[in-house]
Amino acid sequence: LQRVFSGVQSTGNLHLGNYLGAIVKFVELQQSFDCLYCVVDLHAITVPQDPIALRNNTREIAAAFIACGIDPKKNIVFNQSQVAEHAELAWVLNCVARIGWLNRMTQFKDKAGKDRENASMGLLDYPVLMAADILLYRATHVPVGEDQKQHLELARDIAQKFNNDFAESIARNGFNDAFFPLPEPLISGPATRVMSLRDGTKKMSKSDASDYSRINLSDDADQIAQKVRKAKTDPDALPSEEKGLEGRPEADNLVGIFAALSQRTKADVLGEFGGSNFSTFKVALVDLAVTKLSPITAEMRKLMADAAYIDDVLRDGSARARELARTNMDAVKDIVGFLR
Ligand code: ATP
Ligand code: MG
Repeated sequence: LQRVFSGVQSTGNLHLGNYLGAIVKFVELQQSFDCLYCVVDLHAITVPQDPIALRNNTREIAAAFIACGIDPKKNIVFNQSQVAEHAELAWVLNCVARIGWLNRMTQFKDKAGKDRENASMGLLDYPVLMAADILLYRATHVPVGEDQKQHLELARDIAQKFNNDFAESIARNGFNDAFFPLPEPLISGPATRVMSLRDGTKKMSKSDASDYSRINLSDDADQIAQKVRKAKTDPDALPSEEKGLEGRPEADNLVGIFAALSQRTKADVLGEFGGSNFSTFKVALVDLAVTKLSPITAEMRKLMADAAYIDDVLRDGSARARELARTNMDAVKDIVGFLR
C-alpha cells in the first residue's frame, strides 16, 4: 500500500513557502495516493503558544488545506493532538532513537538559538515525534519542503533500527521484515525552499518576526504588492540563463517563486524576463501572485467564518485516523512486548 502522510504546524502566519513547498504537493498527491494531512498541534507547542490563538491557528491550517483543494472526504484531514497514538508511538521511538542522532539536527540548533539549555525537551524531540507521525500509519511517501529533509532521513534511520532491533519479534508476530516501510521524502520543483523576502539566505518561516519576510496566505492584494515591492534584490538586471542566478540568492528566490506559481521552469521564466529590471519583473510577479492566491484567501475567509464546519471536518478525520493508528499501535505493542 502506498500511503502519504504530511503535516503543517498550527503556528499561524501560513505563508507562500508552506503553500508551494508542501500544500500544492498535497493537492496533487491526493489523485494517486491514500493521504493523511495533519495539523500538527503537538509540534506547535514545542515553542510557547497562546492557547486561544493555537485553536484558531489549527482551524486556519485546516481551512487552508480545504481552500487549496484538499478533499476532506477523500483524504484524512485531522489534528494530531486528537489521536493519542502519535504521542504513544513517539515514546517507543524515543527509546529507539539515539541522543547523538538528535544532537545533529540543524532545525533544533536554529530554533533553540544560543540559549540551548533553555529550549524545551519537546523542541529537541520534535523529529522523533515527526517520525512517529509518519510511521504510525506506515506511510511510504512524505511531501515536505527541503528544510525537512534531515528529519526525514532521521525517520528512516529510526524505522530501520526498529525493524532491526525487533526483527525476531516482528517475525514471531507474523509481520513481514520491514514492519515500518522506510518513508520516502517527496521534494521537487523550483520552490522546495522559498527564502525570506528580506534575506535570501534565510528560509521563509511562520516564526520570522518580520511580516515583510513572507507572503501570508491571508494577505490581500495590497499587502502582496507592498511586500514584493519591498523585497530585497540586487541592482543588476535578471540573467537570461539559470546559471546567472548563482550567487544571487534574492534573484534566484523571486524567479523560483514565479516559476512555481506559473508551473514553469526557472529557465523558461528567465527566457521571458532575462534582461529585465526587477521593477518590471516585480510587477509581473505581483500580478501572478495575486491571481493565484486571492481565490484561496477568499475561500479560507469563507471557511473560517464557519468554525463548526471546520471542527466537524477535523473531528471526522481524527476518528478515521484513530482507527488506522490503533491497529498499528497494537501491533507495535505486541512487537515490543507490552502485555495487553
Ligand atoms: P515554523 O517557522 O514555525 O517552523 P514553517 O514555516 O517552517 O514554520 P512548518 O509548519 O514547520 O512551517 O512546515 C510545514 C511544511 O512547509 C513543511 O513541509 C515544510 O518543509 C514546508 N516549508 C516550510 N517553510 C518552507 C519554505 N520556506 N519553503 C518551502 N517549504 C517550506
Ligand atoms: Mg518549520
